[in-house]
Amino acid sequence: MHSSSALIDIYRDYLPMSESTPVITLGEGNTPLVKAVNLPQQLGFPKLNLHFKLEGLNPTGSFKDRGMTLAISKAVEEGCRGVICASTGNTSASAAAFATKAGLPCFVLLPAGHVALGKLAQAILYGAKLISIDGNFDQALNLVKDVAEDCHLTIVNSINNYRLEGQKTAAFEVIEQLGKPPDYLFIPVGNAGNISAYWRGFKLWKNMGKAAMAPRMCGFEAAGAAAIVLKRPIAEPETKATAIRIGNPASWKEAEKAALESDGWIDSVTDDEIMDAYKLIARSEGIFCEPSSAAGVAGLIKHLKAGAVLTDSTVVAVLTGNGLKDPNAAMSAIKIDLNPIEATVEKVKLAIGI
Ligand SMILES: *Cc1c(COP(=O)(O)O)cnc(C)c1O
Repeated sequence: MHSSSALIDIYRDYLPMSESTPVITLGEGNTPLVKAVNLPQQLGFPKLNLHFKLEGLNPTGSFKDRGMTLAISKAVEEGCRGVICASTGNTSASAAAFATKAGLPCFVLLPAGHVALGKLAQAILYGAKLISIDGNFDQALNLVKDVAEDCHLTIVNSINNYRLEGQKTAAFEVIEQLGKPPDYLFIPVGNAGNISAYWRGFKLWKNMGKAAMAPRMCGFEAAGAAAIVLKRPIAEPETKATAIRIGNPASWKEAEKAALESDGWIDSVTDDEIMDAYKLIARSEGIFCEPSSAAGVAGLIKHLKAGAVLTDSTVVAVLTGNGLKDPNAAMSAIKIDLNPIEATVEKVKLAIGI
């Protein structure tokens, strides 16, 4: 029995927790692992043993909460006066919520015009101080690094090692939910913190003898922001998948190492491939994730189309964030006619068409 349901309490033996670390929690973690039923069939691989880790069911709607609960708890332990981050959206929503719970002020630098509506709304309502900058995420992060020191604020971007430490708990959960590690993990790559964190978790349990093996880590950048794949920073990253619109990933080296050590790979997928996967996940499995979240599945589909045979393998795809965060993406992905019709039985029957 766990004495508390808080993520960092449950896994405290594997985390940099001390006796005096407060537990700032919103009920994060313990997200469902759901088996895909229709999608493998639709892809032409009915025997594909595919599971989705639904990280969009965390309290602020993305996996960022796993790392944020630890980062904010440690910030409080260390007596910090406030936290600051640059964000493509989900980090700001998570930081704002946990900072509020801890009673700390939260400052957020946002790249103007490239943050999904739902994420912005969250950060505003949680009470963060939002500062929109005329620049992209990478520029915002550089500013945060300069300002944090002068203002004595704690950075809660994923360059804060507690973020990755907290995020590695997702790997523990996947192993517990499957009863074993998967053979493959497919995951989106933006700042490359999440793929690095999963690898830390899988490797730790393997090294401790709690798991027999560790999965191959398969990460996917958006083609317009594929710094790791192209082996150079991208000055002007572009993709509809705004959460992975990052040109100079903070955990670049650790992610490369994760792919190498696990016998996996990091590749890129186009916006069309991402949006096709985004629609397919919703329409075959009833799961609404955000476009960035679909990059891992887009990568899986790309791999299958290239001739990979995964029938004897267990595959987990991480769906990193909740689709409700970005209603505009859904509305522009599917063109429908919402003009009202006459409110009569005949007209409605006509519209149903069966
Ligand atoms: C942050 C984020 C990512 C990218 O994760 P990294 O750790 O930056 O690679 C992917 N999807 C969503 C929804 C995110 O919020």
